[in-house]
Amino acid sequence: MSWNFDHTYSKLPEIFFRHQKPQTAPSPKMVIFNDDLAKFLGLNPNEIKNAPEIFAGSELPPGAKPLSQAYAGHQFGHFTKLGDGRAVLLGEQITPDGRRFDVQLKGSGPTPFSRRGDGFAALLPMLREYIISEAMFALGVPTTRSLAVVLTGRDVIRETVLQGAVLTRVASSHIRVGTFEYASAYGTPEDVRTLADYSIRRHFPEIENEPDKYVLLLRKVADLQASLIASWQHVGFIHGVMNTDNMSVSGETIDYGPCAFMDNFNPDTVFSSIDTGGRYAYKNQPKIGAWNLCRFAESLLPLLHNNIKSPIEIAENEIDRYWERYNEYWLNGMRAKLGILSESANVSLIDELLNLMAEHKLDYTNTFRKLSLSTSNVLANSPKFSEWQQKWQARMPDTELMKKHNPVIIPRNHHVEEALAAAENGDFSVMHSLLEALSRPYDDSEKYAQPPQQTNCTYQTFCGT
Ligand code: AMP
Ligand code: MG
Repeated sequence: MSWNFDHTYSKLPEIFFRHQKPQTAPSPKMVIFNDDLAKFLGLNPNEIKNAPEIFAGSELPPGAKPLSQAYAGHQFGHFTKLGDGRAVLLGEQITPDGRRFDVQLKGSGPTPFSRRGDGFAALLPMLREYIISEAMFALGVPTTRSLAVVLTGRDVIRETVLQGAVLTRVASSHIRVGTFEYASAYGTPEDVRTLADYSIRRHFPEIENEPDKYVLLLRKVADLQASLIASWQHVGFIHGVMNTDNMSVSGETIDYGPCAFMDNFNPDTVFSSIDTGGRYAYKNQPKIGAWNLCRFAESLLPLLHNNIKSPIEIAENEIDRYWERYNEYWLNGMRAKLGILSESANVSLIDELLNLMAEHKLDYTNTFRKLSLSTSNVLANSPKFSEWQQKWQARMPDTELMKKHNPVIIPRNHHVEEALAAAENGDFSVMHSLLEALSRPYDDSEKYAQPPQQTNCTYQTFCGT
């Protein structure tokens, strides 16, 4: 049980990264450590959780070769050169069962890509990422994970003085759509090909020897994103900043900034304070997925060719496929939520329910759960809802199936905020209890199933910079 780093990313052409050491922290202190994830990675939790220096960036673990990755991205529709402005990749940990995971420190100091930022992170946004990413993992949604958060002992200056912290993020890789955009805009066509080959080798080795492997790369990424975004819709998760630099080719949810789960069902829900136009609203997420995949396809265009179609036609065909796949994933997931896997649970039955939920401002999570628990009227004072419920019940829903697809416990904003407020004052017990509950999302819970007293419509999130 120990660090077991490999460094394939650093063998890419130089334009893709810069060697960069994390900055030494004045007084590292472990705040939270993920024992289960450590074991999964092949690390001995009892040994390494007493080494906050490693997770603060002050000491490098054996075999680490830190680097910051270059990437670009469309942010709210505008193309920008970016890169890890406050993160360093320590290496790729090879697990005991031979799997490969990036181990990255986030908030460990400036890098050549910091632009005007200071390279640091504050405690609460890092804890927020820890809580929500681990909740997503327990819900079965593909995601990067969180191994540790340490306080650095360094003040971080934002609107006020905040406690500095570093999050250790674990990901299948940090190759983003934005990495391809970067290669396409600032590298040579050969760089794009090298990155594509690297991504295929790392994530889709099964297509490595296919003659149309780059088309298949686009198809694989589109399929993973279709599945991912459908699962966000199923659990009521709003990413909040679906810029192309925050879209991973591995299909994991990445970059937990202004994300949040909705309470009352409202397809227009936006939590992020900067998303004034609602570009990344709940209802827009599938469309933005397609938009981002178009940017991915554009980067790959020089590699997309066969004897029949032009590169543009190939790309368009793959985006059409994305929509087909998305609709399938969405429908299948909604069917499982309604306990009916057959075609009798059709789109109109689902849409009718969602419309009623929106009209009556019903809690998204609890409405589905209530449906799976009772045959009594979920909304007794609405004849239309009773009518819908009768129609649905006539199709003989399987309530055991429903219970497996309708969580009780999601990271509700008011619970997350409560945990963060306590953590800010040095009390981490509230967060530990919350995390414990979130690790079992399908268990009944009086406390954590409670929606907020007042509606959370005005709840706002901020990019954690
Ligand atoms: P994000 O909103 O986390 O996706 O970040 C967008 C870009 O801003 C990425 O290139 C980050 O590395 C960069 N960034 C965010 N916060 C900071 C910071 N405090 N210092 C330097 N760069 C930052
Ligand atoms: Mg980002």
